[in-house]
Order: sequence, then structure tokens, then C-alpha cells
Amino acid sequence: MNQNFPKPSQYNFSGLGCWLTLLAIFLLLGSVGLGWLVNGFLIILGLLVLLPAVAWLGFRWWLKRNLVEDQCPVCSYEFTGFNNVKFRCPNCGEPLQVEKGHFHRLTPEGTIDVDAVDVSAQQQED
Ligand SMILES: [Zn+2]
Repeated sequence: MNQNFPKPSQYNFSGLGCWLTLLAIFLLLGSVGLGWLVNGFLIILGLLVLLPAVAWLGFRWWLKRNLVEDQCPVCSYEFTGFNNVKFRCPNCGEPLQVEKGHFHRLTPEGTIDVDAVDVSAQQQED
């Protein structure tokens, strides 16, 4: 029974001592006239906490503006793409681009659009 009884831990006192030492250092620095150092440290600490929060909010805002969810015009596979970025459909590999919030097919660069020759044939199929 006595073995399981928690002993008065020394760690608690050393932890408290650590904080007291820090506080003493701050008070010492303040009394020496280095209050600006303490203020600067606190400001940096505050910035370290605030900056990631602001960055995260900005990142979410950016994502909301730039993420577009739509269906692939070729295979109707629904996925998410980035605005103003060329990408490929993860399902069929068709090169796509976002235009006005919707996915559009990209005509591969350097190829001549020869589909115009078959207009009559396509019209008959339709
Ligand atoms: Zn597709």
C-alpha cells in the first residue's frame, strides 16, 4: 500500500522555482531599466501566438476564393481544383482549367484544332 502512495514530488517545487526564477529575472531586468526588453519579449510572444492564427484565417480565405468544386466535363468525375491553375482530371487525365467557377477542357498547346474538318460528320451524328 505504502509503495503506491504518491510521494511528495520534488518536481513540483523545481517547476515552481523555475517560474519564480523567470519572474525574478523579469523583475530584475525591469528594475535595471530593461523594461523594454520584457515588453519586447511579451510583444514577440503575442505575435508568435497571433501570427499563425492570422495566417490560418488568411489561408482559409484564400482557399475559399481559389478552390473550385465541379465535375469533369469529360467523365463527370466530381473533384476539387484550384482557380487559374491548369490541372488534370484525377479520373480520366483530361487537362482542365477553371473558368468562371467551372472546369473547362484545355486544348493541348501546339496542336492544331482539326476537329473543324469533321463538322459535317459530327452534325450528322447529332
Ligand atoms: Zn475526367
